[in-house]
Amino acid sequence: MEMDFNNTSFKDFENIPGMDAYGWARLWAEYMEDRSRVGQFNYRQENQSGCGPEIELNLPGNPHRSFVSLVSNDYLGFTQHHLVKKAAVAGIEKYGSGAGASPAIGGHYLFHREIEDSIAAFFKRDNAIVYSTGYTANSATLQALLKKEDLAILDMAVHASVYEGCLTTNVKSFPHNNLDALERILKMARQKYRTRMVIIDGVYSQDGDLAPLDKIVELCRGYGAYLMVDDAHGTGVIGETGRGVIELHDLFGEVDIITGTFSKTFAHIGGYVIASPELVGFLKFQARQHIFSATLSPASACITKAIQLVDEEPMWMQRLWDNIDYLKTGLQGLGLDTGNTQSAIIPVKIGDINLNAKICGLLLEAGIYANQINYPAVAKKDARVRMSVMATHTHDQLNKVLNAWEWVIKKTGLKNKHH
Ligand code: PMP
Repeated sequence: MEMDFNNTSFKDFENIPGMDAYGWARLWAEYMEDRSRVGQFNYRQENQSGCGPEIELNLPGNPHRSFVSLVSNDYLGFTQHHLVKKAAVAGIEKYGSGAGASPAIGGHYLFHREIEDSIAAFFKRDNAIVYSTGYTANSATLQALLKKEDLAILDMAVHASVYEGCLTTNVKSFPHNNLDALERILKMARQKYRTRMVIIDGVYSQDGDLAPLDKIVELCRGYGAYLMVDDAHGTGVIGETGRGVIELHDLFGEVDIITGTFSKTFAHIGGYVIASPELVGFLKFQARQHIFSATLSPASACITKAIQLVDEEPMWMQRLWDNIDYLKTGLQGLGLDTGNTQSAIIPVKIGDINLNAKICGLLLEAGIYANQINYPAVAKKDARVRMSVMATHTHDQLNKVLNAWEWVIKKTGLKNKHH
């Protein structure tokens, strides 16, 4: 089978008619080889140093060894904070290297309960369940709560894990942040479904923009729908004290289900759901990926420390915002279109898959590692380079990024006016 690899995306390999999975895999290998040959495969680069603002990669043909990294969601730089690392080591010293079992049958430990208590208190609530990933915090929770009699109402831009959680319920989605469309669905759904649950992000992972949470809470109340908010990218970044979009609107008690991850600001891995005591108690035994899967390792004791540090060392959030403003202003000064971002995620909209890949390749040539975001993560016309800012980036590193963009603009003739 012939494929035009210049017009192919990852999604085209999902279920190719007329061949089986081994056939898809053979074609995939050809696609990867072709994209690497034309210098457009910029994914899954092997980090040889550690998580941080500058990392080591070993890329064939690239003269650099050290790259300014814009690919990490470790927004406050806590993966390298000495107290966080110390807490991870202390967890292993005290409990061993693994938890050894799933939570209901031996795998629930004191350090897990400490994480639950800390994250619930962080959001001024009492009850939380901890999952092994942010992905399952969403997918397993939704799978446990919504069935074929129910309706999930999704902002189109929510994370893949939410879509996965909704595979066995009914789904209606509304264009990103479009409140009129959301209201139309809520009106229509009122009599038709047993549970209506609206699911949104606080900060959206591709645009870095925010949900109008106050208005969405009002709509959910008015139409009797539950609300779940995933603020994976807002936590530790947005709000006076880093509680995210919920803090911006002071709606701590109003969101039915708060979800998030420990893999970004909290510098480890894992996810959480904060909800009523009954719902949390239910999920602890009914969320399948939780109950049938081993719990977080004792290294996760570092999460509790990372949660405390958000309050104990507020200078990290200040440094993060200084860096966000610096990079964003610089990119906009070069005429680049950074969209509506109001967070640590800064996209540069390119709008063409191949040009986007080429630009990411050029940035690597200039010693800058940024993310190439193409369809199906975003629509083909919305292809973009995505950069995540960290508190620990230096202005020198960010200047290097801006110089690289200036060079890329000259080299590609990119005309990309910020509106
Ligand atoms: N929610 C959002 C909005 C995300 O961007 C991600 C992935 N980074 C997740 C959930 C999943 O989190 P994790 O990587 O911890 O599984």
